[in-house]
Amino acid sequence: LAHPTRLDATSMLPSLRRQLLDRTPAIFIDGLWQACASGKSLQVDNPATGAPIAAIAAGGEADIDLAVAAARRAFREGPWPRLPAWQRAARLHALADVIEARSETFALLESLDAGHGIASVRNGDLPLGLRALRDSAGWANKLTGEVPMHPATQPAMDYFLRQPIGVAGLITPWNAPFLMVLQKLAAALATGCTAVLKPAELAPLSALLIGDLCREVGIPDGVVNIVTGTGPSAGQALADHPGVDIISFTGSTAVGRSIMAASANSNLKRLVLELGGKSPVLVFADADLDRAASAIVGEIAFKCGQYCAAGSRVFVQRSVYEPLLQRMLAAMDGLRIGPGYEEATQMGPMISAAQRRRAENIIGHSVAAGARLLRGGHARPGNGYFFEPAILVDAAADMQVSREEIFAPVLTVTPFDDDASPAAVAALANDSRYGLSAKLWARDIGTVHALVGLLESGQVIVNGGGGGATLPFGGVKQSGYGRENGRIGLEHFTEVKAVRLGY
Ligand code: NAD
Repeated sequence: LAHPTRLDATSMLPSLRRQLLDRTPAIFIDGLWQACASGKSLQVDNPATGAPIAAIAAGGEADIDLAVAAARRAFREGPWPRLPAWQRAARLHALADVIEARSETFALLESLDAGHGIASVRNGDLPLGLRALRDSAGWANKLTGEVPMHPATQPAMDYFLRQPIGVAGLITPWNAPFLMVLQKLAAALATGCTAVLKPAELAPLSALLIGDLCREVGIPDGVVNIVTGTGPSAGQALADHPGVDIISFTGSTAVGRSIMAASANSNLKRLVLELGGKSPVLVFADADLDRAASAIVGEIAFKCGQYCAAGSRVFVQRSVYEPLLQRMLAAMDGLRIGPGYEEATQMGPMISAAQRRRAENIIGHSVAAGARLLRGGHARPGNGYFFEPAILVDAAADMQVSREEIFAPVLTVTPFDDDASPAAVAALANDSRYGLSAKLWARDIGTVHALVGLLESGQVIVNGGGGGATLPFGGVKQSGYGRENGRIGLEHFTEVKAVRLGY
């Protein structure tokens, strides 16, 4: 992704204020921004200062009813599901183009709203979100049904077709607001579904701008509807709604559970659940320790540890335990921490004071139980929700710090025996209720192959890098089910209809 004109935050702020931040709070229904039923609003803070930057509509059940009705009308009567797939794809490419043209605005917005380092947004979420749109556009006309090779015994033809499932409820978290919204919208729209989006109330601003741009590129009214609001009001109303055919949710395992119950108690709507993680990192003695140490610390610093797939439980072969630990401590000491919108920042603040307090508490309990804190683990004095990244050792497997998804820059480092079998090492990694991502640093192909097979995880990353926008992404165990990205991700938004054509 090229960034021809990088603008500094201060010069962009006035236009961002006019475009977005100073807007009257509103929800987006049937192509129009309108007041929510309650007339109430919610404040959005800049996590680097704690100061308010915008207000959004506090949508609730009545607003969700309107949004679902608009989406249903657009699905039943509007052109979108009936357009040739290439025409839907053309709108998605157009949406990607206008977003790309405003990439600096989105980068600044994410850093102001979610706190992320602006460079990490430019190099990560922005290109990934654009890829999600363009890849989904590419898949739109390649989804197929099947005709079995062997016809039925009587004169007939058997086949099945794929149709868009209907109205999609999209519920997104605050930790990657732009990317999560685009991934879900891309899949829903490419397949011909219509959508009601409920963005995270803590970082909702990029979603609002995306709503404007959907209109600008001619996505028909009612195809994309956006209701801001809290989880227990707007989110729960969407999950409960009998007029919604699928919910694609990314967020915590606890809320995923309640969405599953809501589906069971309403209309058995289909669910794609992308939930929490507590990802293991396995480092073997033959690994490139420099690369491993900087990647492990870089990943936990990315989004200030508020990244679902971040490796947080590090297991190291004993003969390289000390050298790896020393490299990790040095990498952590070198991190540049600051407001996301400052160019040099490598790690921004956490999203809220509450999240930061939770991280401090978990570390406190684990230290009281015998873990040793080698670095950080506490709030930075001053404004904003900054947190000193932490490394703990001697953390037993049953301590909170080893079991809970902390969603903060907190690493535990634990040695394993030099002669441990792949099965014994995999057992350490698999000792978690989560199974989202596992990272492996090793060069011996036998070790790699054995562990790829044994790890209970939706994703295994060998020797660094992320999963990208084209590999299916999702978890096993309590990290949820279903996958995002690519053909598999889009197929969740389709229904299969079997046909016997007798003649
Ligand atoms: P969260 O579960 O608190 O909220 C996520 C979304 O759900 C928000 O929009 C929220 O308003 C809404 N919500 C809250 N209560 C609801 C309810 N009762 N009914 C319906 N909707 C409700 O999660 P968060 O704190 O925003 O995000 C952090 C979590 O997201 C972490 O657990 C992280 O691991 C997870 N996450 C997972 C992935 C993945 O792909 N697996 C990606 C990013 C984040």
